[in-house]
Amino acid sequence: MRSVFIKTYGCQMNERDSEAVAAQLVAKGYTLAPSEAAADVILLNTCSVRDFAEQKAIGKMQNIAADVRKNRPDVVLGFMGCMAQSRGQELIDRLPDVDLVLGTQKFHHAADYLDEILAGHRDKIVDVAAEQGSEATIREHLLNGNAQKSVTAFVSIMQGCNQYCTFCIVPYTRGEERSRSIADIVAECRQLVSQGVKEITLLGQIVTSYGKRGFGRAELPLGQDAQQRVPTTKKTSFVQLLDAVHEIDGLERIRFTAPHPKGYGDDLIEAYARLPKLVESAHLPVQSGSDRVLKLMHRGYTRDRFLGIVKKLRRAKPDIGITTDIIVGFPGEIEDDFEQTLSLAREVQFDNAYIFKYSQRRDTPAAGMPDQVPLKIREDRNHRLLETVNEIGKRKYHAFVGRRTQILVEGPSKKNPARMTGRTRCNKIVVFEGAERHRGQLMDVKITRAGSFTLYGDPAIVNL
Ligand code: SAM
Repeated sequence: MRSVFIKTYGCQMNERDSEAVAAQLVAKGYTLAPSEAAADVILLNTCSVRDFAEQKAIGKMQNIAADVRKNRPDVVLGFMGCMAQSRGQELIDRLPDVDLVLGTQKFHHAADYLDEILAGHRDKIVDVAAEQGSEATIREHLLNGNAQKSVTAFVSIMQGCNQYCTFCIVPYTRGEERSRSIADIVAECRQLVSQGVKEITLLGQIVTSYGKRGFGRAELPLGQDAQQRVPTTKKTSFVQLLDAVHEIDGLERIRFTAPHPKGYGDDLIEAYARLPKLVESAHLPVQSGSDRVLKLMHRGYTRDRFLGIVKKLRRAKPDIGITTDIIVGFPGEIEDDFEQTLSLAREVQFDNAYIFKYSQRRDTPAAGMPDQVPLKIREDRNHRLLETVNEIGKRKYHAFVGRRTQILVEGPSKKNPARMTGRTRCNKIVVFEGAERHRGQLMDVKITRAGSFTLYGDPAIVNL
């Protein structure tokens, strides 16, 4: 029996693609190797969002190739995902030990291509072409290899991006936006729930653009119940999808990522108040607090509009957890722009923020913009913003101490498997002294302590 090891770089979309490829290979009789040292096939699922991520994957493949080719010449090596898509054949020219380069619309061909290579029918395969309908091919799940029940699952609702932010390579690596149908997504969610999943995260590059292109408007009539509870017909396809997923019996929680701030219309804000399964959590990538920089980035909103969305969300759900992505050192960003980002972070009081030093990406408009910011300044701003974000995060996490909160228990803690972890509705990890039997339960815990972006719950008052 052949074994495969997949290493994933980058975002949750990549994690989900890797899971689907792994599930596809398991269905074809492969086993999942615990490390690359034991695998017959080694695949790196790559990220192109920053140069650092690309260099890491290339360096990793160089090391693997040097090691494997000496001792185990028959091992198949492959790149897949975003960097595979953007670099294609160039990767094999640079690393001749690589056998397979699989683009972002080709994940579902992984097993067939590997069969051909392993059988010796083909030597090298590079497939990075566009493929119609590929958005509906990321559907197989592993659910922890079926050994233990997985409580949460990611469901890919669309592929691609049409936003063309000037810094971002994603529209070039993931192609045009294409959405799956509501019926197809709901069927996948139902299947997951029937297997014990309690929480589903709907995934896409910009989920708030769901259904705008591809299949047009939502085509599935909503259930009677949903229609009665929804007074307005002016709903985006994304909110119609939320309504449809919300109808699934046995599903406890719905999350989604990533939305675009400009997609936060009143119908979506209203959905938070209206749909009890939609949890109080929003990842709202702001990128900058300066209107001048937001315009250069082609983000399509102003600082004021962003603050207005946050205000409305907090009015609808006062306990909502709000996280964000911020880029520091975008071309032309001066100290005053950066100070506006700092002040926005303070004003919003994000629960957490992912901070990125701007990275020049090939073929993106920002790569050719004047006034690229020197690395030293980008590092300094990164450090200063991180300090601010951590300080705010610490305060926000400490505010939970003494409160009772509901968690969904996901499984043993990664850091200390003797403990269990759960997640609050507002997306905070809670570690507590639980047992395997708690997995999948919704329970109230009292928060006793706060660490760095982690909460600790008191087992004494866990509802058993
Ligand atoms: N689709 C989401 C959106 O547009 O809001 C996020 C996708 S992206 C994979 C995740 C984050 O990476 C972005 O929100 C941005 O902060 C960061 N990012 C993207 N391109 C970047 C670049 N060239 N340099 C630094 N950070 C970048």
